[in-house]
Amino acid sequence: MATKSKFQAIRGTRDLLPPETALWNHVEQTAHSVFGTFAFGEIRPPVFEPTELFARAVGGDTDIVSKEMYTFKDYDSSQELQGLWILIFSAKDPKTQDETLDLAKLAGKLIAVGRSALESGQLSKTPENLRALDQIELYASKLPGIANQGQRETGPVAAALRDAVTELDLGDELSLRPEATASVCRAYIEHGMQQLPQPVKVYYMGPMFRRERPQKGRYRQFYQIGAEVLGGSDAPAIDAEVIEMVMTFFDRVGLSDVELDINSIGHNAPDCRPAYVQKLKAALEQVKDKLGADSQRRIETNPLRVLDSKLEREQAIIATLPRIADHLCTECAAHYAAVKRQLELRGVFFKENWRLVRGLDYYMRTTFEITAKGLGSQNAVCGGGRYDGLVELLGGPPTKGIGFAIGEDRLILSLQENGKGAAPQGRDVYIAWMGERAYATAVRAAKDLRNAGFSVELPPTELKFGKALERADKLGSRYALILGDNEVSEGSWTLKTLADGTQQKFTEPELLEFLKSVKASGERL
Ligand code: ATP
Ligand code: MG
Repeated sequence: MATKSKFQAIRGTRDLLPPETALWNHVEQTAHSVFGTFAFGEIRPPVFEPTELFARAVGGDTDIVSKEMYTFKDYDSSQELQGLWILIFSAKDPKTQDETLDLAKLAGKLIAVGRSALESGQLSKTPENLRALDQIELYASKLPGIANQGQRETGPVAAALRDAVTELDLGDELSLRPEATASVCRAYIEHGMQQLPQPVKVYYMGPMFRRERPQKGRYRQFYQIGAEVLGGSDAPAIDAEVIEMVMTFFDRVGLSDVELDINSIGHNAPDCRPAYVQKLKAALEQVKDKLGADSQRRIETNPLRVLDSKLEREQAIIATLPRIADHLCTECAAHYAAVKRQLELRGVFFKENWRLVRGLDYYMRTTFEITAKGLGSQNAVCGGGRYDGLVELLGGPPTKGIGFAIGEDRLILSLQENGKGAAPQGRDVYIAWMGERAYATAVRAAKDLRNAGFSVELPPTELKFGKALERADKLGSRYALILGDNEVSEGSWTLKTLADGTQQKFTEPELLEFLKSVKASGERL
């Protein structure tokens, strides 16, 4: 009996389907090509990394790391141990004497395998692991004695055994990447890229994962296209060129109505950002009563983030707060002025936004954000900035860095809302064939046409011509090539233009020439 499938894409994830995927490909192709013209090379880091990498690079007290990461244990260290772990972890409370003894046996095996894994180093000798094995042993040893006393007695012991099993740390803690800058910096260090001609300019694209509340423009698996420049220099021209590159990309991809906001957040030295944060904090204390609970909390934890607030009733108050631009140190102020000059030189329009901040210490100087129209409150399509301390924080040499990440999902949404969505995928040629000889010719014709770059639909089974032409029409085909045994023996093929029903006769070589000339004339076939 057929049961209805209950499988669905996980909340916050989705299938990208044709024809929409054509638009995704177009966007990605444009990124490859534009970034290539700026001499960036593509990097493809893995989608999972040690949790520790993100905790350090993104920051343990950010929302991303503290509650949005998809984290899991990697059990690769011992398959056998992992198997036993899963069996016991997923075991139901034993009901019968036999089931109880089986569970005890399984636990006995886990203890033996676990202890030898401790010796071989496959299981780390941490106090937690030693304790967990002792606990497992304790509960496993109780089971045989109560095996005949029923589930009320065995259930709690089995539960305690399972709890002890979950305390075993079998392997590395990994996370799906919530962003890619950390991975790029890790790769820079791992491959000794500081030996390469500097700066190293790389871009990436691919899925990122954050357990956020799904809504329009916010998904749990979403896609970013980003770039990073790493090296010894923090010349303002680098910042300006990176920004010029994103803006060129948006322009080329057809997203016209975007706004670029820039700011400088100084750097982490006593005469710069920290001094400003002190002033900001003092000013916030003065107006504390008028702020919402979130902002009140942030006065203590991260005063800069108050500037991020979107709360309507806080806006007028925030407008009166001290601004970082007035408190930058001499070098940071000069750097910011030079970045703005460099942007003007490149014809890049920007708006200064003193409220644009980043909450992490190693973010410094240039920050920018690009917003698009028609996306409601999820309207940021790109965020970026300078992070000169990050590579060093991850154990690498002192390195300067700047980069950005574009939200590809939001970019696509915005293109669609501006009427730049993908057209349904038509076919250039639908081959309507009847008869066995005709079929052999149709297969060969399909191959030749495809080799010449045309999209061809070749029905796998014979259809009456009427039915085939109907199908061709439904699929949005431009032409139908009609091949019956007569056409094949006469060597004269009929090409029907589906839009107006006109028919033309061609020999095989003529047909190819004709289609090529239509394509060359720039018309979509
Ligand atoms: P937001 O303020 O919108 O939450 P963010 O500051 O968390 O963005 P970044 O970490 O700077 O975003 O990521 C860069 C870009 O990635 C964002 O501008 C946005 O376009 C996109 N992005 C971030 N999170 C998501 C998500 N959950 N779903 C879709 N796109 C996202
Ligand atoms: Mg976010």
